Amino acid sequence: MRPLRVLLVEDNPVYRRLIEKLLTGSQYPSFDVTSVDRLSAAFDSLDRQSFDVVLLDLLLPDSEPHETFFRLRSRAPDTAIVIQTGFDDVTLASKAVEGGAQDYLIKDRIGRVGLVRSIRYAVERMRARGAEWASGMFHLAQQQFLKAAYIVELDDNVRQRLLFPERAQVAALPFRRDEHGEVETVFGYRVQHVLAMGPTKGGIRYHQGVDLGEVAALAMWMTWKCALMRLPFGGAKGGIRINPLDLSRTELQRLTRRYTLSFIDIIGPDMDIPAPDMGTNEQVMAWIMDTYSHRVGYTVPAVVTGKPVVLGGSQGRTEATGRGLVYCIIEAARHLGLDLGQCTATVQGFGNVGAHTARFLRENGVKVIAVSDVSTAVYNAEGLDIDDLDAYVARRRFLEGYPGGEHITNSELLELPCDILALAALQNQVTIDNVQRIDCKILAEGANGPTTLEADDVLRERGIFVLPDILANAGGVTVSYFEWVQGMQNFMWTLEEVNTRLHTIMTDAFRRTLTRAEKEGTDMRTAALIEALDRVRQAELLRGLFP
Ligand code: NAD
Repeated sequence: MRPLRVLLVEDNPVYRRLIEKLLTGSQYPSFDVTSVDRLSAAFDSLDRQSFDVVLLDLLLPDSEPHETFFRLRSRAPDTAIVIQTGFDDVTLASKAVEGGAQDYLIKDRIGRVGLVRSIRYAVERMRARGAEWASGMFHLAQQQFLKAAYIVELDDNVRQRLLFPERAQVAALPFRRDEHGEVETVFGYRVQHVLAMGPTKGGIRYHQGVDLGEVAALAMWMTWKCALMRLPFGGAKGGIRINPLDLSRTELQRLTRRYTLSFIDIIGPDMDIPAPDMGTNEQVMAWIMDTYSHRVGYTVPAVVTGKPVVLGGSQGRTEATGRGLVYCIIEAARHLGLDLGQCTATVQGFGNVGAHTARFLRENGVKVIAVSDVSTAVYNAEGLDIDDLDAYVARRRFLEGYPGGEHITNSELLELPCDILALAALQNQVTIDNVQRIDCKILAEGANGPTTLEADDVLRERGIFVLPDILANAGGVTVSYFEWVQGMQNFMWTLEEVNTRLHTIMTDAFRRTLTRAEKEGTDMRTAALIEALDRVRQAELLRGLFP
């Protein structure tokens, strides 16, 4: 292996010598170090030759601390950058990490092992950007995690472990189309992020945009979600890169059974328990359960959750995510002193989560003035009739053509003035491009990853109260846990039992998160992550490393 080429940008001669000494002593890998003490000199070096990694001090004589990283990143977009910060400034270091630095090191704590490993991982991570992991969502999940890890001073071994999933499997899935028996092959994924907490748990998504990075991000968020809710699961997620709307019911069934068979060795009621996500539903879960049961020779209801009630599904599972989201909104409104009876809401997405959210908001006195789906958005200042919308979508599948309101675009919906904006469609909806025009008091993330990092900062500055996804949409996995418990023990709970327990768990998680946010002086998203991370850290360290 050739030496790794390191550009060390450091104006303090003591640290410069220390790092040079530490790197020179390393053999596997070995390093070829070029040292400079100015940012301008770093640019000159980058013009002359390429480097595998830049070790960057943020405090340099010829650059403002908060600009140093971004100036270097724009000059070397494809080079790994490891920040060295001489003071515990969480904002500065985390800004660089959020902006795409691969790692950071606190100078006073630098030792050879940590330094060499950090460089090696940074280079690996940079390489991975070009492969299947290349996904804005995975990047977002990793940066959110790194920020929280920094704040809680997470053990470095645990930090490196949690940055990537523990197990990821990719499969090519051939299935027969209806027309002329043609065979089509698509890609399927199952990713398990943390195996230390119990079985893993997470939905399966059918969408044309699915890739390994997206599934890995969702699996990571599932870990935090389960930990925040104190459920005995690690996070997982699965998906198939296909537009399910292009498939007939029989094609969907064949593909689902093929997916189940391909991943049968890594799913199971004690191992990894799938559930519905975007593009899948209780029928898909029934096919997975049936395929798995045929394979093992007896019926195993607990292999999936979100299945039909008649097959062992739980009362209240279908609407649980929307219900949980509204429980959180009620708590947030109480905290902010808002009277829900006087509030308006807009809901992006009118599928499982969005439609139930709209219904429960309505039931709590909120006037729902706009909803949308992939086809259109509908706005009515007087309030929409949710029953009528449900009936229309049941008949026509999409909101397109709905007569009860004015049709606007999805981007217009996001910017409508309202008290509560519930996002229940896709990731990446509130971005730096539209965040200044978001006009709500509570932003409730029913969808996973709907807000980008940069937009998050602006929401915080603007005082918009964000209910972060790992808290706000955790009602689904919570009732999935109830379903799994019922399945493992052949219990049947009533709807009232389910809803009461869900309410207790959601409000407890909301209050813990709010208390954490107030104590740490941070936003709700970081607080929720810290709360979750604390639990995962304890579990990882208590179990230790084997062998
Ligand atoms: P779904 O497939 O039932 O509904 C998705 C909705 O979003 C549909 O109305 C669809 O038309 C709409 N949509 C798709 N693309 C859109 C676009 N570009 N603009 C506007 N709307 C668009 O899915 P779901 O189960 O309701 O999941 C929605 C989100 O909630 C996803 O991010 C999912 O990961 C998350 N989530 C779901 C659950 C659950 O229990 N179903 C749990 C936690 C999180």
